[in-house]
Amino acid sequence: MSVDIEVPDQGRLAGLRASLSEDFATQTTRLKELTEISADTGDPGEAHNRAALVAATRHNLEQITGALRRIAEGSYGRCEKCTGPIPAERLEVLPHARFCVPCQQKHKG
Ligand SMILES: [Zn+2]
Repeated sequence: MSVDIEVPDQGRLAGLRASLSEDFATQTTRLKELTEISADTGDPGEAHNRAALVAATRHNLEQITGALRRIAEGSYGRCEKCTGPIPAERLEVLPHARFCVPCQQKHKG
C-alpha cells in the first residue's frame, strides 16, 4: 500500500524544532519561576492556582520534549495510534500533536 502523504519537509521540521526549542526554554523558565516562588501567602486559592500552573507547565514541557524526540527519531508528523499522517495544517496549529484528528477525537472520548 503506497501512502501519499505530505510529510513535513526538512525546512519545515527545522522551523518546528526551533520554535519547540524556544517554547521549551520559555516553559522551563516559567516552571523555575513558579517553583522558586515558594513564599506561602497563606492563601489556599493562590496555592491551588500555582499548583495548577506548575502542572500545566510540566505537561507542556512533556509534550514539547515528546515532539522534539519524535522529530529526532523521524516519526514526527505521524499519528501514534493509526500511524497515519497528521495534516501539516494541524501541526502548524499544534506542533506537538501526537494524533490525527479522528484519533484525537476518539482519544478524548
Ligand atoms: Zn490516527
